[in-house]
Order: sequence, then C-alpha cells, then structure tokens
Amino acid sequence: MLKIDMHSHILPAKLPRFAEKFGYGDFIYLEQREDGKADMIKGKEYFRTIKSNCWDAEERIAEYETHQTQVQVVCTIPVMFSYWAKPADCLELSRFLNDHIAEVVAHHPKHYIGLGTVPMQDADTAIQELERLKEMGIPGIQIGSNINDLNLNEEQFFPIFKACQDLDLAIMIHPWNMMGMESMRRYWLPWLVGMPAETSRAACSLIFGGVLERLPDLRVCFSHAGGSFFGTIGRIEHGYNCRPDLVAIDNPINPREYIGKFWVDCITHDAKALQFILDHQGSKRVCLGSDYPFPLGDLDIGKFIEEGDFSKETVEDIFCHSTLEWLKLDARQFL
Ligand SMILES: [Zn+2]
Repeated sequence: MLKIDMHSHILPAKLPRFAEKFGYGDFIYLEQREDGKADMIKGKEYFRTIKSNCWDAEERIAEYETHQTQVQVVCTIPVMFSYWAKPADCLELSRFLNDHIAEVVAHHPKHYIGLGTVPMQDADTAIQELERLKEMGIPGIQIGSNINDLNLNEEQFFPIFKACQDLDLAIMIHPWNMMGMESMRRYWLPWLVGMPAETSRAACSLIFGGVLERLPDLRVCFSHAGGSFFGTIGRIEHGYNCRPDLVAIDNPINPREYIGKFWVDCITHDAKALQFILDHQGSKRVCLGSDYPFPLGDLDIGKFIEEGDFSKETVEDIFCHSTLEWLKLDARQFL
C-alpha cells in the first residue's frame, strides 16, 4: 500500500547568516557540531538541536522505508517563517528554503512532495512567491496559525488565500508563535497546550471570519488533527448558538457546516482520539502525518493506525487517498 506522510519538516544542511546579511533580526542559523548534529540558533539564543535526518534526504528515505512509507511531504520548520522580517528579506529567505525543497523533490520525485513558505506579512510579496511556487510544480504551502499574532481572517491575508484558490495551491496550517508562550514556559506547555489551542484558533478564525465561506475551493489542512478544535466543537457550536452577537458577526453559518470540508492530519497518538476525529471528518478528510523528525511526532509513522481497529478502506484513505486529494496529485507518480 502506498503510504504518504503529509506532515514532516526538512531544512537545508547549511543556512546563510541572514542576520549578518540583512543587518538585523533573529534569523535562524545552524551551528554544526562535532558529533554530526547541528544547533539551531535564533539570534543569540539556542533554539533546538537537530540531527542529520533533518537535512539528509537519503537518510530520511531509508528511515521511512523501515516504516513502509514511500513518500514524505516536506516543509520547513515553522520557526523559519520569519513573518516579523521586512517582506523583501523574508522573500529572499523563503526562496532559499523553497528552492532547497524543490531540489530535494527533483532528486527524489517518487519519495518527496514539497510545500513552500511565503512572506505572509505582505500579500503582494507572498503572491509573487506563490506564483513562482506554482511554476516550480510545488502543490501547496505551509503557513502559521497566526501571522505576527494576527488571526488568519484579517482582511490583509485574504488576497493570499484567494491566490491559493486561484492557483490551485493547497494550504497546511501549522501552529507556531504560541499564545501564552511567555507565561507557561514550564513543562513544555507551549507545545502541549499552546499548539492545540493555536490550531483551533486558526480553524475558528477561518470559519467565523468567513474565509472558508468566501473561498469554497480552498484546500486547507490543519495540523495535529485540528488541535483542540474537534475536542471543543460542541462548545464552539454552542457559543455560536447562544451568543451570535459575538460569534456570528462575520459569517452566519454554523461552524459544524465546515467539518469535512477541510482536511486534518492524524497526529493524535491515540486510536480512540483518531476514531473521534474520523467520526466527524470521515476518512477522506484525515491524512497520515508524523511531524518527523521531531520527538513530539508520531515517529512510527502511523503504526498505531495499523494496529488499531480501523477498516482497510479507512487506513488506505488515511495513508494515501486523503493526501492525494488534498494536494490534487496522482498515486501513479509515486509508484
Ligand atoms: Zn510539524
């Protein structure tokens, strides 16, 4: 069976010193270590240590083979978005990352699909890069759950979503720049509590802000099984019913109407939680994702699904059909 992991992260082995080049900002750079790993440094602050499976395309393919997974959808690490930078500088960084991903795909077309990144802080610049990505054959982009703390329904982002719909580019929404980051650093809470809330924030913003209503052909996939969205859908709908004066001010349609119109990945680490998502979304709107190569990811690439009590059809939908439909790709190009 074809297995496509639609949520994994990759970086180039080397990054230019963008902060030195542009003369400002906490652009990430990589410090190679003697043990073969690399430290990601943000400004002067240590961010994270990464291993060669973060940049070595062949090593990744071999590791994925041990999980019978032939194809990886790769995108950058959200900390690279740099939406805070000047648009022209963010464009240069985005192009560098996108060119690298396109190169990985070109070298291993049966094993990799790429998602680009664009300067969301400036619509014109973002659309310029979207058009280039389209020409390069990249089928979609990854964006953050908020853009410099602005919600995705802000009118300034609408032309970007419109361009994605017009260019037929899919969108993956990834939590980042987590709410409450400063006040809950202990216990990894930004990752355990903030990230699921961020994804729900993005979903609610796009629904209540009317973006999904205005762009019915936009193909959006939310990370981490939609975060806390599905776990709180009853509350979200009740809020819409009991306080429409607060909730339904920009879109009169019940939020439940949008369930099954967007995609989510399956990263729940829990078969029962996944069944709950499937009950809402249907198997054709749930994609295999792992968050490889990071420790919070499902690094067995869907083993809990293979071992769970799911029908063959459901597993096949999750493992490949849903992602192929989301990205409008044909399975034959990977066989
Ligand atoms: Zn991720």
